[in-house]
Amino acid sequence: MSDAPRRVGMFGGAFDPPHRAHVALAEAALRQLGLQRLYIFPTGQAYHKDRALTPAEHRLAMARLAFGSLPGTVVDDRELRRAGPTYSIDTLRELQAQHPGAELYLLMGEDQAAGFGRWRAWEEIARLAVLCVAGRSGHGGLDSLRALPGVRVQPLALPLMPESATDIRARLAAGQGIAALVEPAVARYIETHHLYRAIG
Ligand code: ATP
Repeated sequence: MSDAPRRVGMFGGAFDPPHRAHVALAEAALRQLGLQRLYIFPTGQAYHKDRALTPAEHRLAMARLAFGSLPGTVVDDRELRRAGPTYSIDTLRELQAQHPGAELYLLMGEDQAAGFGRWRAWEEIARLAVLCVAGRSGHGGLDSLRALPGVRVQPLALPLMPESATDIRARLAAGQGIAALVEPAVARYIETHHLYRAIG
């Protein structure tokens, strides 16, 4: 019998830095969707984010610390190696080729779901993957996502989580603590490498 994964998830983000809500979302997806493989993709410079991101090597290292011990989970640097802006469709096509016949699941928070209809090739993304959405307070996105034709939506059952990377960067720049907001190994990495000392 083949042990090729049948249910494969993809979770992309700037992860600048990765925080507890990211990890909780990944854990919920692994459990609730029965994923055998979950790819975490730190993104290159996303076309829709103006802020210059923290260098890729740091975001990749922090993602490995945050997600590395989750079962079946692989932190993958292919979007960081790709020249030019990051588009989810390119990665999804690669995953489909890599895992022929597998059911693909694309994970995101509700703020991303709200803008999904503006993503490059969203219709093709919707054909290739089930969109799995975690609620995020202040961001109604599920209804607009469900209104798009041909989109398969699977909400993740999770309490609303207040963490945001923007808030964490601001707290660090102001000299405030972040211990409750990120994994301990990520907090140590940020400290060791003096990241986010000034607002980015
Ligand atoms: P920033 O504040 O810099 O925009 P972020 O906290 O939104 O960052 P990203 O790395 O941009 O983090 O997010 C990656 C993915 O995780 C996105 O799909 C986003 O919607 C989701 N996500 C992040 N934080 C939460 C949260 N608190 N609840 C639900 N989803 C979240």
